[in-house]
Amino acid sequence: MNGEPDLCIGGQWRHASDGGTREIINPADGSITAVVDEATSDDARAAVAAARNAFDDGAWPETPVAERAALLDRIADLLQRDKEALASLETRDTGKTLVESRIDIDDVTSVFRFYSRLVGVESDRLVDVGDPAVISRVVREPIGVCVLIAPWNYPLLQMSWKIAPALAAGCTMVAKPSEVTPLTTIAFMHLLDEAGVPPSVVNLVQGSGAVLGAALTDNPDVDFISFTGGLATGRTIAKVAAEHVTKVAVELGGKNPHIVFADADWDSAVDHVLTGVFLHSGQVCSAGTRLIVEEQIADDFVAELAARAEKIRIGDGMNPASETGPLVSEQHRAKVEAHVQQGISDGAKLVIGGARPSDPALAKGSFYLPTIFDRCDRSMRIVQEETFGPILTVERFTTEAEAIALGNDTEYGLAAGVRTSDPARGERVVRALRHGTVWLNDFGYYTAAAEWGGFGKSGNGRELGPTGLAEYQEIKHIWHNTAPQPAGWFKG
Ligand code: NAD
Repeated sequence: MNGEPDLCIGGQWRHASDGGTREIINPADGSITAVVDEATSDDARAAVAAARNAFDDGAWPETPVAERAALLDRIADLLQRDKEALASLETRDTGKTLVESRIDIDDVTSVFRFYSRLVGVESDRLVDVGDPAVISRVVREPIGVCVLIAPWNYPLLQMSWKIAPALAAGCTMVAKPSEVTPLTTIAFMHLLDEAGVPPSVVNLVQGSGAVLGAALTDNPDVDFISFTGGLATGRTIAKVAAEHVTKVAVELGGKNPHIVFADADWDSAVDHVLTGVFLHSGQVCSAGTRLIVEEQIADDFVAELAARAEKIRIGDGMNPASETGPLVSEQHRAKVEAHVQQGISDGAKLVIGGARPSDPALAKGSFYLPTIFDRCDRSMRIVQEETFGPILTVERFTTEAEAIALGNDTEYGLAAGVRTSDPARGERVVRALRHGTVWLNDFGYYTAAAEWGGFGKSGNGRELGPTGLAEYQEIKHIWHNTAPQPAGWFKG
């Protein structure tokens, strides 16, 4: 960063092999936050080769579980030591508020602590095969070389959901953060060195996905690809990996419904719908972007939401007065603006927003106003396609069955919210929704101990929880006959 080498390949910090660099832009004001090395595809191939050697010939996969767990705890300690520095780097890189970035670093820490504990208690399974001479065991082994590709909205958080279980399992890996937001992952890589992660176990490259993608994913030396990002990229990676029959887990986008029944607690419903969609300016994969509200309260509910959304204080995430920051880049704002225009031409009713803020102090950043569209229906693209911006669409229902049908009317299936004071109805609706996480009378919360992932085109595989560790393990059945006898099948 800023002249220091940023790629870590085979235990060596290096510049890009062709000397290439990239400017990292602060989305709050368009200034250059840092200049980082931009890897070439040769660098990416070298990183995979280093991880392959470290897996095949290195000590890490055989390192006792207790040592791996202790290392994860040391990493967690260092994350907390450097929390403020990492949080401010994350804010300058993504634009999110410092408060959110601090929460991210705490969450990253909790993922390392969780897998440190879990890996110590996961044990082999003995199977009774009905012969006392046979010891039959099902054991877990590290899956091998992992390629870990992360998006820009929660850069270090999403990467930690991959690196922590991969290390816990005994894998070696190549991490590739988003080229838009690589700074905390570079800083974190230095913490891994300091914590004592052996050379070549974690390799780091960053740069354009289009350039590095093939070297990382169309590569027979890779055993597992864990990808978080958009649907189109996920499809590309899954297709390329299929050629090598490489295992792939893809965590993709969402178009998440937030269903509000008329009997829901009013204040918490308004507040959570607002936070669910406008936090981090809607750049959250699980953002509740589709409000599905019971007709009898819809007008009042939308009016109150609009009044509160207009008061959201937008600004530089480093300013403690800001409640939400900018969009991540000018390019991303252009995409959000095109989506809003599409909503207008499809006939949705613009209630508030639909524009850049007029405050001249925000003119250099890629800010966008909280936007609400009422009178939306399922045929509209703004209802079906992920905008990844501060855009709420409103649909109305009159029956429980209609609410469920609307909630499931999406090709995605990442997350959903349901709000009602009737517990029986709440349970019915929650069970009927085809989404990976469903909140009943809450929204947006998660824990390292519970699985995260999507139904439908929100992806496959799971991160976090015990399944998030199992993704990085192969299962082997060992049949050990302690008193071998001839099988006696062929008599001649
Ligand atoms: P993206 O798909 O554009 O990029 C994600 C990553 O993939 C980046 O590191 C990028 O460089 C890399 N990439 C791009 N092309 C590649 C290729 N051909 N081969 C290999 N890697 C390639 O996504 P984004 O814009 O960075 O992130 C936003 C998306 O991520 C949204 O759709 C959001 O919903 C999703 N997301 C999902 C979750 C989840 O848990 N399901 C979490 C966060 C974000």
